[in-house]
Amino acid sequence: MTKMHSAQLDGVLRTQLYIDGAWCNGEGGRRLQVINPSTETTIAEVEAASAADVDVAVKAAAKAFRTWKKTTGAERAALLRAIARGVEARRERLATLQSLNNGKPLAEALIDVSDVAATFDYYAQLAEQLDETGESAVALPTDDYRAVIRREPAGVAGLIVPWNFPMVTTAWKLAPALAAGCTVVLKPSEVTPLPELELAEIVAEAGVPRGVFNVVTGTGVDVGAPLAAHPLVAKVSFTGSTSVGEQVMKTAATTIKGVSLELGGKSSIVVFADADLDLAVELVVGGGFFNAGQMCSATSRVLVERPIAQALIARLAERARQIAVGDPLVPGVQMGPLTNRAQYERVQRYIAQGKSEAAEVIGGEVPAGPGYFVKPTIFVDVPVDSAVWREEIFGPVLCVRAFDTEDEAIGVANDTEYGLVATVVTRDPAREQRVAQALEAGVVWINAPQAIFPQTSWGGYKRSSIGRELGPFGLAAFQEIKQVLSAARNVRTMRENPTP
Ligand code: NAD
Repeated sequence: MTKMHSAQLDGVLRTQLYIDGAWCNGEGGRRLQVINPSTETTIAEVEAASAADVDVAVKAAAKAFRTWKKTTGAERAALLRAIARGVEARRERLATLQSLNNGKPLAEALIDVSDVAATFDYYAQLAEQLDETGESAVALPTDDYRAVIRREPAGVAGLIVPWNFPMVTTAWKLAPALAAGCTVVLKPSEVTPLPELELAEIVAEAGVPRGVFNVVTGTGVDVGAPLAAHPLVAKVSFTGSTSVGEQVMKTAATTIKGVSLELGGKSSIVVFADADLDLAVELVVGGGFFNAGQMCSATSRVLVERPIAQALIARLAERARQIAVGDPLVPGVQMGPLTNRAQYERVQRYIAQGKSEAAEVIGGEVPAGPGYFVKPTIFVDVPVDSAVWREEIFGPVLCVRAFDTEDEAIGVANDTEYGLVATVVTRDPAREQRVAQALEAGVVWINAPQAIFPQTSWGGYKRSSIGRELGPFGLAAFQEIKQVLSAARNVRTMRENPTP
């Protein structure tokens, strides 16, 4: 196998597609440039694949599925653990690629690498358990029949991922898909394909058989849409914007394939007057400015109980000004640039809009280029019907509002078309539980940073998701359920032995 990423990172890498266990060029001979968002220079050129390339990859995956689905859970677990060890062995390189391509500080990129390894290890464990739990007997009200439920791999899985957490969003799909016994065609974001291409090398080195894992780079229209439409793809798992998720669902509907969607968010952090203020400041800053705010789970709505509102805003303003924004590879930098020009321009439009609507504006400066840098921005008291309050901005922008009662805070937090996450900061244990129960969100953190364990769950209510990733739910998303019913004695007709 050709080592696609062995060139120096300061040169321009030329990468290929990974199909059927080999690196190859796309049929059209077209390429896409990959940009370093800190410098706006080209760091790589990747294949701009087409529907024809997708077809080749899907057919390779369909062929490989015939044997891969017969492997034992223990065999797949061994490969998943080998991938986890491969990720750890390339920890520094993967983190550097992540920083270079996505713009996140190295410290954040290293968290991503650890998350990827932990996800493969976790699903290795679930794959192993499948040898025991993949087939389970069902108790029936008669001895005439025996029923067994089998969990079988769905088939070829098409995975489509965004640019904000390259590798991580992929691992959350790839590890359970392989654990379940599915084969995979992955379409990374055209903005950040480099970490995923490195991951492909790791998967290949781990000894995953040819055709089981394929990577096709290119645009959403040229690669994503044909993948979602392909009749041999049994399951599409998509993470990205709500509008593209809607498209993917429509496309997948034409062949009635299973769909999992992880989409946008507009989430709240609710800070009560009894909160530990130091903790609240750190949780608000983490929920708003980690990954330069480019998080589906950004708690970009800050709801604070009125008695401490002024104190919290003053502390946030001080903290936001201290955040060192710059090249993510420079030690001490805490926030890098936005990941691509389109997002940079979009966030600037929202900042301009917020400036005209907010009672008070903190930060909001956009340093002169090069690089897609935006300073942390806080809007105080924007109207609840304004675009900055209602729409996903996906940048380092927070909107703060004061509230007077618990019910009001819950009502305002839930007043959104999304429902991905929420954070609650309070010292009152009864309130913690009450508010967590009332919030319409798939994840609620209480007095906690946005820690995500692969053993739990990921996904949200309303227009944020269909289905759940991580935990056993992530595995179930790549499985079909088969009932096998056998007669325990000669039962010839239903009349002889009707359904109880
Ligand atoms: P995007 O929707 O623009 O693109 C996501 C992926 O879909 C990319 O690989 C893209 O090439 C592909 N794509 C584009 N058009 C397509 C089409 N017609 N058919 C099939 N595929 C197509 O999203 P983005 O800008 O890359 O990422 C940001 C969005 O992702 C935000 O809205 C964010 O909230 C969301 N996100 C959600 C989660 C979650 O877990 N809920 C996690 C990360 C990001």
